[in-house]
Amino acid sequence: GVKTDICYTTRQDVQHLLKHRKKFSHKGLYGHALLLGGGYGKMGAAVLAAKSCLRSGVGLLTIHAPAAGYTVLQTAVPEAMTLTDPNRRHLSELPEETEKFNVIGVGPGIGTAPPTKTAIGQLLATATQPLVIDADAINIIAGSERLKEQIPENRVIFTPHPKEFERLAGKTANDYERLQRLREFCHTHQCYITLKGSHTAIGTPNGNIFFNTTGNPGMATGGTGDVLTGIITALVAQQYNLEEACLLGVYVHGLAGDMALRTVGAISMTATDLIDHLPKAFLCLQ
Ligand code: AMP
Ligand code: MG
Repeated sequence: GVKTDICYTTRQDVQHLLKHRKKFSHKGLYGHALLLGGGYGKMGAAVLAAKSCLRSGVGLLTIHAPAAGYTVLQTAVPEAMTLTDPNRRHLSELPEETEKFNVIGVGPGIGTAPPTKTAIGQLLATATQPLVIDADAINIIAGSERLKEQIPENRVIFTPHPKEFERLAGKTANDYERLQRLREFCHTHQCYITLKGSHTAIGTPNGNIFFNTTGNPGMATGGTGDVLTGIITALVAQQYNLEEACLLGVYVHGLAGDMALRTVGAISMTATDLIDHLPKAFLCLQ
């Protein structure tokens, strides 16, 4: 077994992590993120992640999406640049000059079609920057021993919900074993994992586990995970280290949910409400 600490994150912990903007700064100092997302009928996932990324302080955002998403993305997210994949429905390759991006967020809405599996293989084999890996990108890696062996060390954050975690790291009998597995997987692959749920647990390469203290059941609705992917991707772009990006990202995501709870309530809450409350959540940490 790996020796570890188990902690929970408080407002004070994340508050002192928050970086403040300098007067003589420009967008080049806040990073250029690449988001690989969207698929036919799931372009909304890319929209949610992109909007969240922009509300979390990224300097520049480029989205690379299947060609069918071009008009949707340019209309829904005018701040982002859009590159189109040659494939109309599925992500099938990486864009050119991926080296120029500080971080790549991948997964929301991409599906698991064969050409997309090829693209994920290409990503693990060629990318050199930090990767935030979510949703079907996790499922694709989980389904291939070859891809699992290619997970680069100290450069990846996975953001699975419990089912995706189980596919990636294997079935466990109970919550205790699941945390053991979280710790082992993070240690073995030297990666970070935000294991999402009502008490999101963040695993780190040295075997520590941090429990988040924000969030509520109103967030149990489609698209809220895509919002987290966008937030964490933006934080990594801004040079937060991977542990800081996980801790602050998960906290502020839940805090936006807790603020949305007061204005729209748990029943009506949507992923878009989380994005709409991100400004207040960041303000309240300043
Ligand atoms: P996903 O399943 O990928 O859409 O992610 C769902 C998001 O909502 C994660 O960030 C979860 O932590 C959050 N979430 C879901 N259910 C709850 C809950 N009951 N309490 C707090 N957060 C939740
Ligand atoms: Mg998800």
